[in-house]
Amino acid sequence: MDFASDNAVGASPRVLEALLAANDGAEPAYGHDCYSHRARALLNEVFECEVSAYFVATGTASNALALGAITPPWGAVFCHHQAHIANDECGAPEMFTAGAKLIGVDGVQGKIDPAALRDILSGFPAGTVRQVQPASLSLSQATECGTLYDCGEIAELAAIAHDRGLAVHMDGARFANALVAIGCTAAEMSRKAGIDVLSFGATKNGALACEAVIFFDEAKAAAFAYQCKRAGHVLSKGRMLGAQMAAYLAGGHWLDLARLANRRAAELSDGLTKVPGVRLAFEPRGNQLFAALPRPVDAALRKAGARYYEWGDRGFGRMLTLGTNDVLVRLVTSFATSADDVRAFVSAARGAA
Ligand SMILES: *Cc1c(COP(=O)(O)O)cnc(C)c1O
Repeated sequence: MDFASDNAVGASPRVLEALLAANDGAEPAYGHDCYSHRARALLNEVFECEVSAYFVATGTASNALALGAITPPWGAVFCHHQAHIANDECGAPEMFTAGAKLIGVDGVQGKIDPAALRDILSGFPAGTVRQVQPASLSLSQATECGTLYDCGEIAELAAIAHDRGLAVHMDGARFANALVAIGCTAAEMSRKAGIDVLSFGATKNGALACEAVIFFDEAKAAAFAYQCKRAGHVLSKGRMLGAQMAAYLAGGHWLDLARLANRRAAELSDGLTKVPGVRLAFEPRGNQLFAALPRPVDAALRKAGARYYEWGDRGFGRMLTLGTNDVLVRLVTSFATSADDVRAFVSAARGAA
């Protein structure tokens, strides 16, 4: 009963088998191998255009390097207050932009509010030397609160940013979970909605350690290979990243994995809403669930061996009022979560309610 995070499990067996297969024989190093070529070709298909894609080993590297490509040291990156880049990356975005400033924007349920974005941008007129210059907007899809932007909402925020000359980044650590929940195409949820650079996550949804930084405009990627190398993210045996990404994408495997994870979250949500005293912040669409658990339920679940994080307020105050005897928790499902895990969790909760 591990609902701590979708990186608590290993890789999809198909990805591991691909790694073993790629282990045989010799291939050119540094990403010039046949597996990486294949992965880039598959990404072109997925995004229905010629993309510039670079493979890195962590989501933090992917976000920080992507932002570094579109933000000068004197720039401002606008993101939600709860964004992973602002709270969970130890200053990597600041470091890889060589000092840009992250500016938190308001919005309920982890989503940037368009009016709040317009408002904060108006406080940064271009050319004011004493202020950082607006350079980029970063959106998380899915958000850190487990919510999703629909394509229209992404397009609206991207248009506000583009009007001011900002480039738009998407932190897609859970891109696949969001995509299958919304039911649009990958191109619609990114390029066609105005995303310029995408951190395309794979690790949490079945890869071992692989994320892609994807540029839809080749010009924005002009210096990226050098930035990647300086950051130590050009893997010598680059085929190990290419092989993961190729297996992840082939035959829509990534979408199947995400559907599994999302289905488990829906089952968990169905089960928990029937437990007296348990309240969900909102009905999950992806693979993250936030719930207020009465303390006795929390204690019984812990005792039964369930793992999950207690969540600080982190913006949930406006969605869910906690009683003094409630604990706010985050529950995350993955492609490897079994229906039995979900049933056992719900029945342990019910037993204590
Ligand atoms: C997990 C996650 C990342 C990437 O984190 P790493 O631990 O560096 O791989 C980035 N953004 C979001 C929203 C995440 O949940």
